[in-house]
Amino acid sequence: MKRIIEALLFVAVLALGWRYPYLAFCLLLNVAVGLVGTLRYGGRHGCGNFCPRGAFYSLLPDTGRKVPAGLLARKASIVVMVVMFAGLALWLHPSSLRAWGMLLYIMIAITTTVGLIGWLVFNRYFWCSVCPMGKIYKTMWPLKSGIRVADTCVKCGLCAKACPFSFFPPDEAKGDLFRNPDCIHCHRCIERCPRHALSMATSIELQ
Ligand code: SF4
Ligand code: SF4
Repeated sequence: MKRIIEALLFVAVLALGWRYPYLAFCLLLNVAVGLVGTLRYGGRHGCGNFCPRGAFYSLLPDTGRKVPAGLLARKASIVVMVVMFAGLALWLHPSSLRAWGMLLYIMIAITTTVGLIGWLVFNRYFWCSVCPMGKIYKTMWPLKSGIRVADTCVKCGLCAKACPFSFFPPDEAKGDLFRNPDCIHCHRCIERCPRHALSMATSIELQ
């Protein structure tokens, strides 16, 4: 339900932001809320739990194709975004809050279009794989959590099928703990496991 509400918020901003650019700031507010969870869990927690665009993409039909691994390096992705934002700012000369809202809106519209093309060519999680915001999260907040794999796992592989990035926690875990800085803590693997073998562990529980 939370994902549907976030996706609807995103679509509303996309549809009305051109006329009401202040709406673009709603998405920044959502990112700020995401940071609260990220401080507890670290890594890309905000991507999987508070990103309205990620929620929107997750509702698109699955193409059955995979996003190629290592499509864009972390630094390249951030540089592309900064250059794009700076280029647009120089071009638009935003001089008011409304103009900054419009700048933000244009950025959101362009990158969402790129994500939609990525969905058609590859997979609905294309943008989640290359998103500079996710890479900033991952760079700035060290991972403080992991997914614990219980010995009830029978390696059926359903969790990997549910994962946006095809991670397979039982195979990739060290000991009983799967920790990957690209994991967005979306819980899809946990929810999909028929044996209830997966659970999230925070830094407190890991001690
Ligand atoms: S879905 Fe559950 S039982 Fe199947 S491989 Fe994943 S963790 Fe193991
Ligand atoms: S491993 Fe699980 S929590 Fe992490 S991204 Fe994949 S499905 Fe989501």
